[in-house]
This record gives sequence, structure tokens and C-alpha cells, in this order.
Amino acid sequence: MRVFRTIPQVRQELAGARRDGRSIEFVPTMGALHAGHLQLIRTAAGSGGLTVISVFVNPLQFGPSEDFEVYPRDLDADLALALEAGVDVVFAPPAAEMYPSGQVQTRVEPGPLGQILEGDHRPGHFAGVATVCAKLFHIVGPDRVYLGRKDAQQVAVLGQMVRDLNLPVELVACPTVREPDGLAMSSRNRRLAPDERREASAIYEALQAAASHAEEGEASAARLLSRARRVLDQHPAVRVQYLEVVHPQTFEPVDTVSSGALIVVAAHVGSVRLIDNCIVGTA
Ligand code: AMP
Repeated sequence: MRVFRTIPQVRQELAGARRDGRSIEFVPTMGALHAGHLQLIRTAAGSGGLTVISVFVNPLQFGPSEDFEVYPRDLDADLALALEAGVDVVFAPPAAEMYPSGQVQTRVEPGPLGQILEGDHRPGHFAGVATVCAKLFHIVGPDRVYLGRKDAQQVAVLGQMVRDLNLPVELVACPTVREPDGLAMSSRNRRLAPDERREASAIYEALQAAASHAEEGEASAARLLSRARRVLDQHPAVRVQYLEVVHPQTFEPVDTVSSGALIVVAAHVGSVRLIDNCIVGTA
């Protein structure tokens, strides 16, 4: 496994691999790797190409009052996990390598899909995500990019960017990896105190309550949401920011679920903000 901190060095390495006829399989991350990331990496590594990950906590996608400063960082642990999971190349640039003047003048602005739900509660977040991904895609030149469905709206935003800007990459969306009690794995989970960690599992319990009601044949979004609410109301430590049933591509709220519809949630537990989703539209 080789580790690069600069753009010219990683470009040179990947150009060599491409000349040798290897495909580039790319997993962008912000580090603090966990089993969710490792699943993406193993899926990428299983394709037979060169497996590349980036480890970069992107300042552009954090709002001024968000957790950029306290976001977990542990590059040594990440490198050990990456090696074990079969990574060939790690690109871990310092912020000054990605943003030499501290900022970017040119941004990718995702449009209405980037303004709702996550985009509504985190203004500028998806422009930050899309901009750093556009940069990383140009630096790495991947054939395929592996993304987690845990961040379902992010997958949709990046899919739209790839289509709108004709980027020659295929996005591969992978299932959400969960803790044994159902909590979606997240780098932010390690910032939960033990009692908060226990309460946080109510988020998944609520989504599951809605999903099993949908499986019983309930198609009304309002009734599915009230099932989920009933669970969350028993856990006041989980402070819901949004809870919606949405269309899987537009992320606009729906009244009646159809195939692929998602229940999406964002909630604070203590000072940690968590998001999750699951499919409720099975028909
Ligand atoms: P992050 O480091 O949080 O930016 O995540 C990097 C990638 O890993 C994104 O595509 C995430 O959606 C994905 N990811 C994070 N957590 C999980 C999880 N629990 N299951 C599957 N994918 C995940």
C-alpha cells in the first residue's frame, strides 16, 4: 500500500496503473474508518482493479457552527485498517494541498436536491461535498466510485453531478452497515457518551417500526411517520431535526409510498448529529 500527500504524486502513481491497464476503484472518505467504510473498500477491492481511498476531512462541507474541529481524526489507525482491507493507494492530502488559497472560488452547486433535508439544515453542505468530490474525481480519475447508502441524499446529489457534468465515472451505492443494535456505523458515533450511545439505537428502531408497518401494507406516509414518532417520543434524548418519507431520487416528501421510497431522519443525541434512512416503499 502506498500513501500520497500531494496531488502530482498520486496522479503520477495512478497514471502508471492506468497505463498497465488497471481500472481505478475509488472510495472517498473523511477517515476515522469503521466497518461501513471497510465494506466499501472490500467491494472496491473485489473488482480486481486498483483500490484507491482518500482520507480528507473536507472543511468546505462543514458549516461554521458544525463539528469540523472535533471530527475524529486518526490517520495511523486508518492506514492499518486500509492495508488489512486491501487498499493499494491512499491519498491523504493536507487541507492546503486541496485548497491552496484557503478557499475555492469555483464551486459545484447541486441545485434543488442539494437545498432540502440535509441541505436545508446544513446550508452549503452539498456544495462542499460536490466540489470536493469533483476535485477528487479529477485527481484520481476513477472508473468506479463506491458510496454508502447511509448518506442516501449524498448518493443522489453526486449521481446528479455525474450526469449533469458528464463525468466518466460509475457510482456504486453500497448498503448501510450497522452496529448489532441497528445504529448505522458512523465516525461520529465515537463521540457519543455511553448513555447517549444506548439512546441512539432508537433512531434505527423508529425507522424499522415504519418499515415493518409498510411491509404490512401501510402506504400512507403520515401513518408510517407516526409509527416512527411513537418510538422516538419514548426517547427524549434523541432530538429529531427532520423525519420524512421521501421520493428516492428527488427527496421531496411523498404522501403515499411507492417503490423505493425512503424514510429519512436526522437527530441530535447530546452534541452529536446523526442521520439514517431505510426503504419503506417495497411495492
Ligand atoms: P465519510 O467518511 O463519513 O464521509 O463516509 C465515506 C463513505 O462511507 C460515504 O460514501 C459514506 O456514505 C460511507 N459510509 C459511512 N458510514 C457508512 C455505513 N455505516 N455503511 C455504509 N457506508 C457508510
